[in-house]
Amino acid sequence: MNFRTIIEPFRIKSVEALKFTTREERASALVAARNNVFQLRAEDVLVDLLTDSGTGAMSSAQWGALMQGDESYAGSRSFYRFDRVVRDLTGFKHIIPTHQGRAAERILFHTVLHPGQIVPNNNHFDTTRANIEVEDAEARDLVIAAGRQPSTIHPFKGNIDTDALEALLDRDGDRVPLVMVTVTNNSGGGQPVSLQNLRGVRALCDRYKKPFFLDACRFAENAYFIKIREEGQRDRAPREIAREMFSLADGCTMSAKKDGLANIGGFLAMNSDAWAEQCRNLLILTEGFPTYGGLAGYDLEAIAQGLEEVTDEAYLRYRIRSTEYLAEKVVAAGVPIIRPAGGHAVYVDARALLPHIPPLQYPGIALVNALYVEAGVRGVEIGTVMFGQHHDGTETAGAMDLVRLAIPRRVYTQSHIDYVAEAVIAVARMGSSLRGYRITSAPKTLRHFTAEFEPLA
Ligand SMILES: *Cc1c(COP(=O)(O)O)cnc(C)c1O
Repeated sequence: MNFRTIIEPFRIKSVEALKFTTREERASALVAARNNVFQLRAEDVLVDLLTDSGTGAMSSAQWGALMQGDESYAGSRSFYRFDRVVRDLTGFKHIIPTHQGRAAERILFHTVLHPGQIVPNNNHFDTTRANIEVEDAEARDLVIAAGRQPSTIHPFKGNIDTDALEALLDRDGDRVPLVMVTVTNNSGGGQPVSLQNLRGVRALCDRYKKPFFLDACRFAENAYFIKIREEGQRDRAPREIAREMFSLADGCTMSAKKDGLANIGGFLAMNSDAWAEQCRNLLILTEGFPTYGGLAGYDLEAIAQGLEEVTDEAYLRYRIRSTEYLAEKVVAAGVPIIRPAGGHAVYVDARALLPHIPPLQYPGIALVNALYVEAGVRGVEIGTVMFGQHHDGTETAGAMDLVRLAIPRRVYTQSHIDYVAEAVIAVARMGSSLRGYRITSAPKTLRHFTAEFEPLA
């Protein structure tokens, strides 16, 4: 017999109570937060889809591993377990622990980048871009055209445009110290990259003698998409596919808060002896000794255990399906989203949903705030507030106005997701009664975290 229902591949041993609030309580909490959901107290949120970063539930095996943590300053047993697990998965020679993904990025780029250089990627994540720009280098996005069109269906919308990459390497190759590809492509809607595309990048990097690094935060979700969407991959285990992905690269940066299934941590890994030596020297300066890199021994244990669990096929089937399930429900009700669903999130197209609110009145904020007040669901605006601010103090519309609903790993059950779908559909039906916002106060950069808003009349 073949049963169609995909169940959560775990049972629940420990629970955390949710706090229920009234609409009036949420409305006044939002006013106190100056209409910016980043400023809410998390306990006033019912279903928190702000991010999938570090918000997952650890397994009983991970909690058990915490007690095995060896807190020795140098040469701890926990480091050697972490090192063995990461090396077995990635095949890279040097494994450098860091406190999260952006620390790995900062150490890599500060070590290898010079002013005026260019780092190509499908789409740079915001911390990746910031860590390149702070070195006075350029972060260039080369995702395929379909990756920039919300409603175009394509199995691998995260692919990098290899023709554009080849043209760049041909013309400006001497300014490119390394090539990066982000799996899955977070900034582009959590869309996967195919093995064929990664092989194409490898071939170009061989031809132009460039190192190839993966931004590997969601490598396991990407491997599962390859399994179910790429020709000839169906019968392979996700771990085997993940190993092949890593084998095509020369190194990676990783946030263990994503597919490490941990609440904190990350690593930088590479084959180059010379770069690794320089990176370790910088690590000692800012993160810590190379056998802990800013983490406790117990964090290294939790990450090692998480990396063993994350490629489990039953887990990944449930993970990818639960995001797709939310997407199917809202699409069936006519809510515009980026299609197909990404691995870790559903991205609602707020600009398309609320055409009466112009981008500079922040349709994404209008939708995020209504979702919170009506249902206690917290999403995040990825649009004009996040990307529309310029160094000279001016502002323009972002490329898109999206609201990301990111699904924490192993935290919410199907009925939570049913509730979220119901809430999104109900708020979408309020449509033209939603109002735009104006900013009353904002810092000079990264304004989305702390800006204050006022609803327009
Ligand atoms: C989260 C993330 C990072 C940064 O990792 P942190 O652990 O948040 O510092 C880098 N790249 C991508 C694609 C990410 O999703």
